[in-house]
Amino acid sequence: MRIVRPLSLVPTVLLAVLLGGGTWIVGAELGAFGVGAGLGAVSALVVLGMGARRPFRRWRLAQRNLPASHRRWLRVHVPLYRRLDAEGRAAFERDVRFARAEYSFEGVRGVTVTETLRLSVAAGIAMLLHGRPEWELPGSRSVLFYPERFDDTYHDTRTASYDGMAHPQGPILLTVSSVEAAWARPDAGSNVVLHELAHLFDFDNEGPDGVPSLVDPGSAPDWQALVRAEMRRVRAGRSLLRPYAAEAPSEFFAVAVEHFFEQPDAMARRHRDLFRALAAFFRLDPRTGTVLGEGPVALDERGEDASVPRPAVD
Ligand SMILES: [Zn+2]
Repeated sequence: MRIVRPLSLVPTVLLAVLLGGGTWIVGAELGAFGVGAGLGAVSALVVLGMGARRPFRRWRLAQRNLPASHRRWLRVHVPLYRRLDAEGRAAFERDVRFARAEYSFEGVRGVTVTETLRLSVAAGIAMLLHGRPEWELPGSRSVLFYPERFDDTYHDTRTASYDGMAHPQGPILLTVSSVEAAWARPDAGSNVVLHELAHLFDFDNEGPDGVPSLVDPGSAPDWQALVRAEMRRVRAGRSLLRPYAAEAPSEFFAVAVEHFFEQPDAMARRHRDLFRALAAFFRLDPRTGTVLGEGPVALDERGEDASVPRPAVD
């Protein structure tokens, strides 16, 4: 996550120029050139100031250190963080601070939102964006924590079966116990936080179809063919991915993301093409924490990345 996103500044600057210039010209037309110029400058500055609020907030957050207790939690619960070098950890910690500050976290039906719950979601966001600092997670920035599993009407009835849910425009819903379980065994290949956050990449004009919205449209057919082939393997019981991945292409993508980050060695060995596709998408090799460059990911016969030296894991 960048402090300043050049692309997001373009509309702000354009609006400032249009509004400021327009006010200036109207003032000049009415014969009050000085007043028009002054009002134009003020309106342009107001627009620029509003556009600079988030970069300024991020810049201030970037000056602070993550508390030692938060770093300890990351070391224990996030294997990817442990694999990063000092520079990578600093970037990861900064993303955690940004996500913690910019997302709203709310407890439902008496749930107290603890620092660990906030950190649990912020760590997931930092993982997904670590190789793609130019990205922001799509969708709303609101997270609701539920005390129990919930159903389609968000109630904890006997038939309630949801541990998490993501909406295209609305909040992300998570149960407290599933979030705790997700980080208690971070190599199990099951993480509700990563799962629901992954869905956010898949909400676009086409709906949730297993093709993340940020994929180059030209490579969408390749993605779809890969997803179909891998779903067949899940149904045949020949996949590392758990059976829920065969529910729908959107669920396949979300489950694949969980395994990619939590069991990267096994995925690279058993699902070479899928691993390579996800590594190219996230531009990250989660086995090493190495941020990858542009282009295809080269893997040798053992499923090891032949193009990047593998640093020591502590
Ligand atoms: Zn899902």
